[in-house]
Amino acid sequence: MRTIKDINIEDKKVIIRCDFNVPIKEGKIVDDTRIKGALETIKYCLDKNCKIILLSHLGRVKEQADLEKNDLSPVAKRLSELLNQDVLFSEKTRGTELEAIVDSLNSKDIVLVQNTRYEDLDGKKESSNDEELGKYWASLADVFINDAFGTIHRAHASNVGIASHLESAVGFLIEKELNALSVLDNPPHPFVVILGGAKVADKIGVIENLVTKADKILIGGGMAFTFLKAKGYNIGKSLLDEENLDFCKKILAEFNDKIILPVDFAVTNEFTNDEEYRIKDANNIADNEMGLDIGEKTKELFENIMSDAAIIIWNGPLGVYEFEKYKTNTDELLKYVVENNIKTILGGGDIVAAATTAGYKEKVYHASTGGGATLEYLEGKKLPGLEAIK
Ligand code: AMP
Repeated sequence: MRTIKDINIEDKKVIIRCDFNVPIKEGKIVDDTRIKGALETIKYCLDKNCKIILLSHLGRVKEQADLEKNDLSPVAKRLSELLNQDVLFSEKTRGTELEAIVDSLNSKDIVLVQNTRYEDLDGKKESSNDEELGKYWASLADVFINDAFGTIHRAHASNVGIASHLESAVGFLIEKELNALSVLDNPPHPFVVILGGAKVADKIGVIENLVTKADKILIGGGMAFTFLKAKGYNIGKSLLDEENLDFCKKILAEFNDKIILPVDFAVTNEFTNDEEYRIKDANNIADNEMGLDIGEKTKELFENIMSDAAIIIWNGPLGVYEFEKYKTNTDELLKYVVENNIKTILGGGDIVAAATTAGYKEKVYHASTGGGATLEYLEGKKLPGLEAIK
């Protein structure tokens, strides 16, 4: 993959696609992690005396009312504080006002352009990769750097569109993600996959792609019950993904020795944090019970397998981690990999959120930041944002 260090950007006008999709409440940024994440690439461009144009989406823009709540201007302010220099803001995503600001840039000047998805109001121009829009944004600069991993699985005007018209490379954030995730292309063994989360449907692609490479796939979370049901167990009121029962049967028939299912659960009668739970063996769940976390025996079984893993990829929490009572074993196993220094990649989304809350995010080998993008990488799919740069 061509990275920012592979191309000459010295003194050039650089357009960088960042991921500034940060939570904003009443005009205030609630969490600036993503803005901080962009600094390395921006600072590198400053060191190279570039004129810098920043693009990012924020939220979704479907109707007029979405414009104000997805206004990107608070990001310019925060960025300016973090960089200790002025950051200009263009209210417009195209046109003479934007062009005038770009023309006025000196070396080391930065302008952040309004939310790229403002263009979606007019026929989804950004999200459908409108040819003319990508070409227009490309015309503003000499070089394109894509550093927004979270949208790399989508072909949008602000990534694929621009890359089709300019010399392009990925920034440091994407490079770091790819370096970590590419370990899985040729994984060291034992290679252990941990899958949790709600639905089997969301993980079918990952299972299909990784089952032949992995030595063991440990399954927890809501999705475990569809596998247990496929084995003929009574799962009571636990989550069932009926449509994918046959898929589970097929995978179990073919890879029975690789797929490791929970042997016990924390069960209760209602989907709430307020009732007491009890621990039940997987083959002893009553009709009126539902499993909301794996049990202690399962935790030990999983730890045993994880203990000699050369690498672990983990996607999805093993219980309903939003409820205090049922996040215990997800947290315990996160702690286990951290304390035992087991090389572990957290594959985006909810498991990264769980690790962040529990304070383990910075301590694992890699916590991937892309939700959908990471999942599609794990599914072995080609990512349009990367293909455009290749
Ligand atoms: P995902 O987005 O696929 O990673 O799924 C995460 C969701 O799975 C979280 O909202 C969890 O609450 C949910 N989840 C995990 N375990 C269970 C379970 N045993 N029953 C129901 N939902 C679960």
